[in-house]
Amino acid sequence: MVQWLSEFNYDFALAAIPIQIILMVFYCSRRNLPLRQSRSFLFVMISNLVMTVSDIAACELNELWRELPFWILYVINMLYFIAFIIRGWSLFDYCSEVCHIYRRTQKIGQILSSIPAIGLIIMILSTPWTKAIFYISPTEGYVNSFLYSSIYYCTWFYLLFSIVTVFICWDLINLRIKIGLFSYNAILIIGIILRRSFYHTLVTSYFSILAILVIYLTSQNPDLYRERETHLFNRAAFDVIGAEYLSKGIPFHCVILTAHNYETAKLIYGFNQLRRCLLLVGRWMVSHFKGYYVFYYGNGNYILFHRGTFEENREQTLKIISERFEKAWTDNDTDVSLSMSVMILPYDKMPNDINKIDDLLHYAFKRTYDENNLGNYVIQDEMLHSFDRMSEIESALGKALEENRLEVWFQPIYSTWEKRIVGAEALARLHDPELGFIPPSEFIEIAEQTGDIMEVGRQVFNRVCEFAQSFSMEELGLQFINVNLSPAQCLNEQLVSELSEIALVHNVSMRKFDFEITETSVSDYSMIKKQMLRLQDEGAELSLDDFGSGMSNLTSLMQLPIHIVKIDMEVVWAYFREETKVLPDLIRLFQNADMRIVVEGVETNEMKDVLSEMGCDYQQGYYFSKPLPSQDFLSYLNDSNASLCPPS
Ligand code: C2E
Ligand code: MG
Ligand code: MG
Repeated sequence: MVQWLSEFNYDFALAAIPIQIILMVFYCSRRNLPLRQSRSFLFVMISNLVMTVSDIAACELNELWRELPFWILYVINMLYFIAFIIRGWSLFDYCSEVCHIYRRTQKIGQILSSIPAIGLIIMILSTPWTKAIFYISPTEGYVNSFLYSSIYYCTWFYLLFSIVTVFICWDLINLRIKIGLFSYNAILIIGIILRRSFYHTLVTSYFSILAILVIYLTSQNPDLYRERETHLFNRAAFDVIGAEYLSKGIPFHCVILTAHNYETAKLIYGFNQLRRCLLLVGRWMVSHFKGYYVFYYGNGNYILFHRGTFEENREQTLKIISERFEKAWTDNDTDVSLSMSVMILPYDKMPNDINKIDDLLHYAFKRTYDENNLGNYVIQDEMLHSFDRMSEIESALGKALEENRLEVWFQPIYSTWEKRIVGAEALARLHDPELGFIPPSEFIEIAEQTGDIMEVGRQVFNRVCEFAQSFSMEELGLQFINVNLSPAQCLNEQLVSELSEIALVHNVSMRKFDFEITETSVSDYSMIKKQMLRLQDEGAELSLDDFGSGMSNLTSLMQLPIHIVKIDMEVVWAYFREETKVLPDLIRLFQNADMRIVVEGVETNEMKDVLSEMGCDYQQGYYFSKPLPSQDFLSYLNDSNASLCPPS
């Protein structure tokens, strides 16, 4: 048992020291993001350790005032007080950084908030002469002086302002961080109250280490910013560093890397093998691009992040990457080949909002392969324009959906055997007050990515049912209305019950509808088949849209419960341009499989006659009519069947 000189109880302080050292070693052994918040946290830990050790040392040495030179006592006590102040100040600074308060108050907030700490440090340093905080008396030894309490006032000041800061920035921080910030401040307040109540027990450091642990677990744990598979930095880390650099005007650039054969590689090598390969790729990037921070965004997408603009070494970086990816990645004697596309996002093309940067990166992941094939390796204005257009469409669609403004137009479908219009395809139309007409080829794809496609589907089907309810389809001579379904909609388990519900509300039978699913995007056959069978149970018909535009597996397609195939207009046009002769064979193939055939893109009378001759059951195209708003479509129906297709 150690025999201490002073009457102070050090048990709590001594318990805090090893915890603090372990935490510091662990924290420093990982590469942290170069953020002010990380630096503040390190400062908190260092000052807490210095404060704890110097507190014990000062209490002990103060007992030896008769034997020791006074300057030693001044130095050790001043060290304790300075560490005490810096700890409080750094904690406040940490809290301000996490809350992004300086984005609101700018530099002036930072300067003003440091005045109390700097003032007190100056006071502590001048204490041997002014005797303001404490003094060493030749008769009594260490004595607290008239400004001693200002040390505590300063700590209270920073604690109070930390809490105020959290309230000011309430909308800028997430719940986990709020809880963390409140809890650590509460712990510190309890610590100070107990310290004042039990003067002879050194509890401050113990409560400090508790507060530090709370910070570590809620917002500073390096694992929060690491991707689990590759141990590289994750998207949350990118958002934090990107937002800090943007707000402080620090230039930075990114190299975007995307394995465009990721899905194929997963099939060929298996997920585990591919995962190990992605780990190797990450390690290689970390070791070859020393100044860069490497981020992994999942699905074979990496980002290299570097401070500064990107002018030098541009060619060199691209060369290193392309040369390395020409070779396979070997793990467990298995060679995995990854084809990497690369795109640079230079500082001068960097959006000024972190969410926009994120969106741009995701956009770039999808575009790099095509852009590289065109010889583009750096994001140019043209790509930014198409990205801006995509963002504009996204918000225009969001607004239209919110205001229930999406329209549905109808394009007639002609029956070769009945020689009249027997059906119609419902096509979504988006007119934006600012952007004008936006074609579905643009907004449907965006809606599929953002998840808005579900709402598009609901609103379109609502409009279609309104039409079917308002007019007697039999009297109009319409046997069916075709409604497009995106495969993304099929991922919604509730799809069929939602559609049936809408039809029920409008008192329209599901038997009147034929749902078209596009062939190009059929990937998850089992899910689509499940939804198709449910739709069939409800009495609806199903078609395969745009056949020939994708590369789907014909055997799998044939297993879907489909009785109608719509042949893509490109296939039809290629036949009439005499580029391929595949059309008659395709028609025969589907006839033999007992499927009905619709041809799209019929633009001339000659096309109509030839396609009728070939045995297509239905035809659709500009020759009959372009898609029309419902009223125009009704007028069209009223006078078209007689004039367009006179009975032979
Ligand atoms: P789709 O289902 O293959 O629809 C046929 C598209 O071809 C329509 O384009 C139509 O206007 C166009 N078209 C028809 N006949 C001709 C012709 O003779 N010549 C030419 N050049 N074009 C013709 P639209 O309306 O722009 O729609 C494009 C695609 O957007 C649709 O292709 C469909 O895949 C999708 N889409 C449209 N509405 C919806 C919807 O409500 N939901 C979903 N999921 N997708 C939709
Ligand atoms: Mg269609
Ligand atoms: Mg089509």
